[in-house]
Amino acid sequence: MGQLEIFPYNYNTLCDTYRCSGVARVSIGIKGEPANVYYNICKECLADLAREIPIDLIMLRGDVQERIENAISEAPLKQIVESREDIQELLGERVTKEITIDYNDYGVRALVEIARERGLSGYSGLSKKELVKLLEETEKK
Ligand SMILES: [Zn+2]
Repeated sequence: MGQLEIFPYNYNTLCDTYRCSGVARVSIGIKGEPANVYYNICKECLADLAREIPIDLIMLRGDVQERIENAISEAPLKQIVESREDIQELLGERVTKEITIDYNDYGVRALVEIARERGLSGYSGLSKKELVKLLEETEKK
């Protein structure tokens, strides 16, 4: 059985959500199945759905994040994640800037991941000490 996917919807029809009058922008369905069983929804309804997705599904599955982001670039998943208090509580140091992070508590892999998420460059091949310094410096900006 195929996997449920989210992909761009390019036809000019209304959102399938009951009583929603938005224009459908993404399809949710299994590729290869007839298009009339796809669920076509607007970006607001997709954002609503994303808010309801279990935290672990969003945070642990890079492919899910990527698929949602690719499908609807106007509503970056990051914003949705940041709007969820439960995620902020769990991953507060990663999504809110007010909390002071001691980067020394993190391993090299996690530090590289943080640098990547921040869109930094020149972090590959750095030692832990150098990564900590880089992240501390870029945080002050
Ligand atoms: Zn809708």
